[in-house]
Amino acid sequence: MTGAGPDERADAVVVGAGLTGLVTAVRLARTAGPGRRVLLLEAGGEPGGRARTTDHRGYRLGLGPRALYRTTRDELRALGVRVPGGEPDLSGSLALRDGALHPGYAAPGPLLRTGLLAPRERLAVARLLALSRGRPNLAGTDAARWLADRLPTERAREAAFAVLRVSAYAGRPEMIDAGALAAHFAGVRRGVTYVDGGWRTLVDALLGRARALGVETRTGCRVTAVEGGARPRLTLADGHGIRARSVVLAGLPQRAAHRLLDEPGPAGPPGRPLHTACLDVALSRLPDPRRTLVLGVDEPLYLSVASQTARLAPDGGAVLHLARYDDGSGLGATEVRKRLDELLDLCQPGWREVLVHERFLPRITTMTAVPEARTGGLPGRPGPRVPGRPGVFVAGDWVGPRGLLADACVLSGARAAEEAVARL
Ligand SMILES: Cc1cc2nc3c(=O)[nH]c(=O)nc-3n(C[C@H](O)[C@H](O)[C@H](O)COP(=O)(O)OP(=O)(O)OC[C@H]3O[C@@H](n4cnc5c(N)ncnc54)[C@H](O)[C@@H]3O)c2cc1C
Repeated sequence: MTGAGPDERADAVVVGAGLTGLVTAVRLARTAGPGRRVLLLEAGGEPGGRARTTDHRGYRLGLGPRALYRTTRDELRALGVRVPGGEPDLSGSLALRDGALHPGYAAPGPLLRTGLLAPRERLAVARLLALSRGRPNLAGTDAARWLADRLPTERAREAAFAVLRVSAYAGRPEMIDAGALAAHFAGVRRGVTYVDGGWRTLVDALLGRARALGVETRTGCRVTAVEGGARPRLTLADGHGIRARSVVLAGLPQRAAHRLLDEPGPAGPPGRPLHTACLDVALSRLPDPRRTLVLGVDEPLYLSVASQTARLAPDGGAVLHLARYDDGSGLGATEVRKRLDELLDLCQPGWREVLVHERFLPRITTMTAVPEARTGGLPGRPGPRVPGRPGVFVAGDWVGPRGLLADACVLSGARAAEEAVARL
């Protein structure tokens, strides 16, 4: 569909077909019931956004490491989406410190035995990670302060944060609100899933659900403006116009959403994005099957052989994800790549001889706006309504009072869908 012409009509339009948009569209169509016209518009050539998975001769490579938390899993199941896969075994995890590997502490058992900490430190770290004191009033406190209050030594703080950072993608504790971090970690402790086939399995299943519910999905369809409030009008890049009763901007970063709405943006300080460097690797054989999960302690590094848990590679092959979380040190891409290569050399010597495919992403956005102490943590995030624009809603990893990463996407998508349906 191209050109100006008369405006097209729809009941609801969801802009963005990443995880947030897909969940929003399915919920919206399901709650609205038959007979409603729901459009899902995606600027890119395919749906999925940052949840995309690529396929190289049967090796499924997600964009960086992927663990699905229970909140997301439960939300997807509630939408009729199966989540096949497994839970990683943390018992053999290793810690990387001073360039050497040590029996690690990603799980309570190894944590209580690690030689990197004195008994008193181990106990304090184990207690903190068990969240045994609950999470009273942590919102508005940065995680560095929380760790300093609860742990006796710098070494213990470093060790605890090595575990916490993996699921929050923050390179340094100063970068994230303690309440958000603790709430998220409590969710992580309920278990995570490595998904068979990668997150593409989820994207495909959500697309299937959307189609079955009558949602019309269009790719290569960029929305350039959303005007009006009660009956918003969308303009597409080709000049085409769509008028709808409700519009959800799903998964667009906060600034991009406000640009589209021609709004000045939030009054408070803008949330900062978190970036990560990722090295995704497919090997025809795993050189060392014992070194499959490594957490950096004195440097924000990570390695995981995801294919040991989920079906991601042909028989005998392996899919690995390495990451370096951005800690604000300003390391260039070449240096980061070198450090990831060194980690891979250490854990999987000879990997180059069995390399099938590799992809280095020097700086991918893992969170578009991290909840920080200065922005009030999770309670400080905006809700789905856009002030003064009654038919327009937002959803994504920066919206709503609950969840980080995909958890925030699915929870805020569900809320925005409810609000959007209420206007139909
Ligand atoms: C390396 C990495 C690892 C991660 N690991 C995890 C993890 O282990 N666990 C977890 O829970 N989360 C993880 N995440 C986060 C998770 O992937 C994201 O939170 C989620 O995929 C974001 O989905 P979204 O739909 O909000 O945004 P996106 O995926 O960015 O989708 C937004 C979509 O909107 C489209 N769009 C933008 N502007 C327009 C426009 N004007 N018109 C039409 N379409 C538009 C874009 O093309 C895009 O497809 C990770 C992310 C990364 C990058």
